[in-house]
Amino acid sequence: MPADSAASDVVLRVALPLPLPRLFDYRAPATDPPSHGDVGRRVRVPFGPRELVGVVAGIGPADGTAPELRELHARLDPEPLFRGELLASLHWLARYSHAPLGEVLATALPAALRRGEPLPDTHAWAWRLTEAGVTAHAGMRQGRPRRFADLLQVAVRDEEALDDLLDDWRGAARTLAARGLAERIAVPASQLAPTPQPGPVPNDEQAQAIAAVAAGDGFAPALLDGVTGSGKTEVYLHAIADCLARGRQALVLVPEIGLTPQTLSRFRARLGVPVHALHSGLNDNERARVWTAAWRGEARVIVGTRSAVFTPLPDAGLIVIDEEHDGSYKQQDGIRYHARDFALVRAKALDVPLLLGSATPSLETLHNARAGRYAHLRLSRRAGKARPPPARVLDLRKRPLDNGLSRELLEAIDAALTAGGQVLVFRNRRGYAPVLLCHDCGWSAQCRRCDAPMTVHGGGRRLQCHHCGHRQAAPPACPDCAGLALQPQGVGTERLEETLAQRFGARVPVLRIDRGSTRGRDALQKHFDTLGDRPGILVGTQMLAKGHDLPGLTLVAVVGIDEGLFSADFRAAEKLAQLLIQVAGRAGRAERAGEVLLQTHHPDHPLLQTLIHGGYHAFVDSELEQRAAAGFPPFTHMALLRAEAKQADPPMAFLQRAKAILAEASATRARDDGESLVLHGPLPAPMARRAGLYRAQLPLSAQRRRDLHVALDRALPAIHALPEARRTRWSLDIDPVDL
Ligand code: ADP
Ligand code: ZN
Ligand code: ZN
Repeated sequence: MPADSAASDVVLRVALPLPLPRLFDYRAPATDPPSHGDVGRRVRVPFGPRELVGVVAGIGPADGTAPELRELHARLDPEPLFRGELLASLHWLARYSHAPLGEVLATALPAALRRGEPLPDTHAWAWRLTEAGVTAHAGMRQGRPRRFADLLQVAVRDEEALDDLLDDWRGAARTLAARGLAERIAVPASQLAPTPQPGPVPNDEQAQAIAAVAAGDGFAPALLDGVTGSGKTEVYLHAIADCLARGRQALVLVPEIGLTPQTLSRFRARLGVPVHALHSGLNDNERARVWTAAWRGEARVIVGTRSAVFTPLPDAGLIVIDEEHDGSYKQQDGIRYHARDFALVRAKALDVPLLLGSATPSLETLHNARAGRYAHLRLSRRAGKARPPPARVLDLRKRPLDNGLSRELLEAIDAALTAGGQVLVFRNRRGYAPVLLCHDCGWSAQCRRCDAPMTVHGGGRRLQCHHCGHRQAAPPACPDCAGLALQPQGVGTERLEETLAQRFGARVPVLRIDRGSTRGRDALQKHFDTLGDRPGILVGTQMLAKGHDLPGLTLVAVVGIDEGLFSADFRAAEKLAQLLIQVAGRAGRAERAGEVLLQTHHPDHPLLQTLIHGGYHAFVDSELEQRAAAGFPPFTHMALLRAEAKQADPPMAFLQRAKAILAEASATRARDDGESLVLHGPLPAPMARRAGLYRAQLPLSAQRRRDLHVALDRALPAIHALPEARRTRWSLDIDPVDL
């Protein structure tokens, strides 16, 4: 290496999106030597025959052992993209998830920026009348262009506001623009200020919660534990308005399914500032724009799904997590972060309040609240006039069933419809039937690539695997015995829809809502709009369970939950309890009283009894006791080493070796201070083969979080180096939620 100048001895340490736990050194041109101002900037660098985009993680003296030091190709940003709190929090995430910093930083960037594209313009687009337009306005004929001109006559309108004000305004805009009457202009987002509309007057409990959040200066985590319909969103809106009044930015995370155009327009209308949305419906450019607008401090309120937790917040004032128990906050591949947990880390580093809201808080969060680590704010009553619905169990044993529906349930549906109400029939299985069975020989249709039965669709004509997506036509005869007695077993949402339509379809609409019938962000609302406030039946999966206001709903019927009562996953009871409470919460949201009916073959099951007679908190009491006794989270800390391969042996062989290394690492630790790691397995995964891959796992747990991480830190270099590691695809999941 040439030693002609001192500057050439200082190199850039670059984090690259590679599965290698290290940084990579690069030279910078002598004309523009490395400086501390490079840290957090993106660079384009050569890597083997390729070129990669990375982020400068540090600068330092060249490591003399590097055989050849290459020069970076370009610096991409005039100033650091990552800095301050966000950079520090992402360093934390890399350590906590034992993942390479380069992969963590790449995960935190929107795809366009990850590819190295320049920071986008962040102005918003708005429309105004031209001078000719102002003159022509009064004489325009009635119609959509006229209504569009009416809106612009009052004020310059940004496109987001127009979306809320006028359906399909774009055609009208084009018409007027073509005639020179209106024009599209770029405006800074911060200049747009719709007039905030007042909300309902907070009730006592809401007022107390609002005051508690406002009083929390600096880092202050709070659980907003409020029954469905109790007005949690109102509390968020007040907290956000307060944050805006202090000149700060607010970040709101919502579950995948909760971020509807209705949620956004409610936020916009109430807050009187532009609300920036980040969700999976946006294209790469739009995502990069919102991220950058937040980075520039222009976006003041960001509402987004899981990955929005990586939004830069230079003026942070508040983080809100709605439905904090929701499973969609956990990333299930790549960097397996939990958005709620990472938000907690960020709120602490940013020194701002964190508001976690739910009608069914996770056991982790309730445990923290009960231990006094989070403030526990309660909304125990429904807001306005709505009353919580009574719930009743329908014992199915020895009762005749019509396609999974008991006579009692059908009568209750009939009565609810006759009284002019709407009915929700909840079944958490989409498709026609979960299994296709040969009644002659017992054969059933299994997926060729998974250890799972194929689900019957299309009234019995098609088969589909819900785990790998494989589809095929249903066989005309049994492949084993050639018999013609193939029968769909059990009921899914399609079959329920068919049965209910046969019975009630002539009287009322019957609509099915699941991933098969309802794609896209607006589809769900379109279904609700179709129904309006007429009597009718909605049949659906958990898509229906979340957050939607259905004022006309008076009966919720839950069918086929018995599978969930006997699952091996220690979190199954928690998930089922949350789902039942959330579904039940859809009924009686407005003036009309509601009722919840639960059909089951296990009416005495403790989970159902506790939920019905004691409610969610009684369930939580008994469940936390059981978790403590069994040594499960939140009383212990878990990680899961997963491995998969095309053959069955390599994953198990790898995990056996990894287990030995981990045992060694924790034994060393045990000698230090008597603590150690508990290793179970390795075991085949609950679905041992999926999409053609054999899967196995090694669960690790420890009383103290630190012991888990210390053992992993010690063991992982040796695990990476195992020859077996190259014959399997493996990953580490800290705080796994699906075992
Ligand atoms: P949550 O988020 O807890 O499900 P929301 O904030 O969406 O509840 O409130 C449920 C319904 O009650 C909404 O229609 C909302 O406008 C209404 N609401 C909330 N707070 C009040 C209040 N203090 N007075 C009257 N209505 C309210
Ligand atoms: Zn057969
Ligand atoms: Zn499959």
